[in-house]
Amino acid sequence: MVVGDITTGTELLVIGGGPGGYSAAIRAARKGMDVTLVERDEIGGTCLNYGCIPAKSLIHIAEFQENIEDWQSIGIHTDSLELDFEEIQEWKTSIIEKLNSGVQAVLNREGVDVRKGEARFIDDNKVRVGEAHKAEKIKFDKCIIATGSAPIEIPGLEFGKKNVLSSKELLDLEETPDELIVVGGGYIGMEAVTKFCKFGSKVKIVEAEDEILPNFEKEVVNSIKNSSKCYRNDVHTNAKAVKVKEEDNKTVLVAEKKGERIELKGDYVLVAVGRTPKPVLETLEIENAGLEIDQNGFIPHDNKMKASENIFVIGDAAGNPMLAHKAYMEGKVVAESVAGEKSGMDSEFIPQVMYTDPEVAVVGLDEEKAREKYDNVLIGKFSMNHSGRALTTSGGKGFVKVVASENEKLLGVSIVSERASEMIAEATLALEMQAYLDDIIYTVHAHPTFAEGFKEACEDAKNMSVHS
Ligand code: FAD
Ligand code: NAD
Repeated sequence: MVVGDITTGTELLVIGGGPGGYSAAIRAARKGMDVTLVERDEIGGTCLNYGCIPAKSLIHIAEFQENIEDWQSIGIHTDSLELDFEEIQEWKTSIIEKLNSGVQAVLNREGVDVRKGEARFIDDNKVRVGEAHKAEKIKFDKCIIATGSAPIEIPGLEFGKKNVLSSKELLDLEETPDELIVVGGGYIGMEAVTKFCKFGSKVKIVEAEDEILPNFEKEVVNSIKNSSKCYRNDVHTNAKAVKVKEEDNKTVLVAEKKGERIELKGDYVLVAVGRTPKPVLETLEIENAGLEIDQNGFIPHDNKMKASENIFVIGDAAGNPMLAHKAYMEGKVVAESVAGEKSGMDSEFIPQVMYTDPEVAVVGLDEEKAREKYDNVLIGKFSMNHSGRALTTSGGKGFVKVVASENEKLLGVSIVSERASEMIAEATLALEMQAYLDDIIYTVHAHPTFAEGFKEACEDAKNMSVHS
């Protein structure tokens, strides 16, 4: 035994205090379990501290600034607009702190024993927390791994080298860069473009595939490209980032585009080419607990999130999609499972939301995937340019599209619109409840609202729309 070792025991050990871990810990404690949660950094994980919340705070401010410009055309005139990025960052931090202390308070109230430190498995019922010379051993009956993921690093563009940033450092910049190069036109890349292009930075995008947002349907991508120059100017597709160098005090990104080299100059390079749990799981030494990492970097598990007899895995560490709301749901499901209740994860309808301008929100099958699966499908579409409510908010950009089977069962919904992130909840519930088009059409939707767009699109699928 190492000097200073203390061994404590717990019924349920949760490793990682992000959306997955803290929701599992709270739910299990509420079910009467004795729960210990170990977190090496801040409670709230990536989402609250370095992801969803700071990213959306800055997007909100960037929109606010652009809206002021729109207001001029409506008749609200401001003499000058001054942006204090330091103050904006302080406001963003205050939101994180407020949410963080809220989660801490609930964990305390529910009697979860929160320990600060890095956990590593000793075997399949013990972890070591902290440094070897002053470590604590925690014995557990059951354990939930909720350790999240880390950004993928490109060799030649290591984080920290010549102003190469991950999303975490980008969200903490003290000033808006004049020129920003974004490597990766996925979720993080496009949300970064949304913020910094509106803040006035010149943004250049480098994407390996032949289109930005390669995982979204073409109609969605074209719609956001048409709505803002931020998503179509200076976009370098079929281009793979290779390395960075320095020239005239600027960072130069070297990329390969169809066998040729291109060079782009900027103040910073954001690398957002995906995330993986692999390095985090290696630090956790999961092999000591008899667990493996699969070829995609995740821990294999069943639909109860069970990875072995007494160890469970949730959130980013468990698999795609790496989204906070998937982690929350898995956290609750696994807590019910470990508490001995019947529970299982149903991942069929997980909405995906991207906070571009306008927002993108999709759930279920898109048209292409539905046509691969069914011989005949019904398609309905509503342009938000015909929505009274969207027009009253200076909006009107985008559309709602629904896909249904021949017998009118809803299969999927795609929305590009202001407030799409809110509108998708009704579509997700409809899919979860196996709704038919008439279920939505004959639900009275308040007027004027954005949500009417969903009903109108369902009507259009039956050639019944009044406002299309
Ligand atoms: P995490 O939130 O990553 O939490 C894991 C925790 O485990 C961390 O706090 C970490 O410190 C801790 N940990 C790791 N190893 C150990 C160890 N050995 N010992 C102790 N503690 C450990 N998702 C959305 O749904 N909507 C969004 O708008 C959104 N925006 C995002 C924006 C950005 C910039 C990024 C990077 C991500 C975003 N995501 C978003 C994804 C979302 O953040 C993740 O899917 C979510 O945080 C995963 O939750 P988790 O609980 O699995 O892991
Ligand atoms: P992503 O998978 O969404 O996008 C990565 C992009 O990088 C892809 O388009 C890919 O083709 C491109 N790429 C890969 N290698 C490249 C290279 N060498 N050069 C140029 N381009 C390259 O990954 P992300 O944007 O890093 O986001 C990670 C995860 O975080 C997402 O999958 C998502 O789960 C989560 N996230 C969610 C939200 C949200 O829900 N609103 C926001 C941010 C992040």
